[in-house]
Amino acid sequence: MSVCWLVSQEETHKPIMLPHLQPVVLGRGPETTIKDKKCSREQVELKADCNKSLVSVKQLGVNPTCIGSRVLGHGKEFKEDSGGLSGSRKRPLEMSTAEKESHKEAASVKAAKQTEELSSGRSESVGHWSQGLKASMQDPNMQVYKDDQVVVIKDKYPKARYHWLVLPWVSIASLKALRKEHCGLLRHMHGVAEQMVQQCPQARSLDFRSGYHAIPSMSHVHLHVISQDFDSPCLKNKKHWNSFTTEYFINSQDVIGMLESDGRVTVREGTSDLLKAPLRCHLCRHQPATIPALKQHLKSHFPS
Ligand code: AMP
Ligand code: ZN
Repeated sequence: MSVCWLVSQEETHKPIMLPHLQPVVLGRGPETTIKDKKCSREQVELKADCNKSLVSVKQLGVNPTCIGSRVLGHGKEFKEDSGGLSGSRKRPLEMSTAEKESHKEAASVKAAKQTEELSSGRSESVGHWSQGLKASMQDPNMQVYKDDQVVVIKDKYPKARYHWLVLPWVSIASLKALRKEHCGLLRHMHGVAEQMVQQCPQARSLDFRSGYHAIPSMSHVHLHVISQDFDSPCLKNKKHWNSFTTEYFINSQDVIGMLESDGRVTVREGTSDLLKAPLRCHLCRHQPATIPALKQHLKSHFPS
């Protein structure tokens, strides 16, 4: 039996499971992180047929809901093949609750086939959202550099003006799976990251950091190379901000150092709580109350 997940392409909320043939009502609230009052708390009802890879979306709220470019009306229902199954090349179903000013909560529904994932040793499916980097790294349109050990892709949802991911060709599920024998590979990844920065047209005017998320959401070890302007519409919430500006982001050099000295990478207890820390500017320690206020503040450091 396949499983179906509602996945926010912009990572504004955790994937929401759509159990087979069970109606799931979603709208404004903590689960979707939608705060806009034009979106009802019960905006849509989703029902997934995991066998047929089909998801129906019914609008319950008053304001319009968009599925891709199609606008639903109150009480209207829409069905679409969710793609994603068995290597289907179809565009995934995109759902956005569109209010007047078009609050874009782009999300995709992907039916994921439950196939044992050999590299991670966990029962994570090939089509599961967390496996997306494996597809992207093989996609020539995403690749910006490759050699015999690594490939570099542009982050699909960049959190700054420049944001790349360096991935090894060998399948390593996460930092936890790293051992001393991977030191050489990680040093090479670090060197490639430095090369990426050097070739960047704004290398002189912007600072960059290269590092790993202590607890990554995506499978397959990936080194983030990110400019420190954080000027991007994809940076949307506190979790995004704190994952790059607190100790949740571990410098590439520190990971290599840990591996050299201890033979493995350990993550401090309480690391996940860092994502909930109050917003704080990484440059001047100013504490804006909200993400829009933070973005406004960042303009003072990085005028466009
Ligand atoms: P993390 O696993 O937290 O270290 O971060 C994963 C990164 O991968 C995030 O910066 C996402 O924006 C990015 N991302 C998510 N899905 C894809 C994809 N399919 N292709 C490329 N980048 C992606
Ligand atoms: Zn500041």
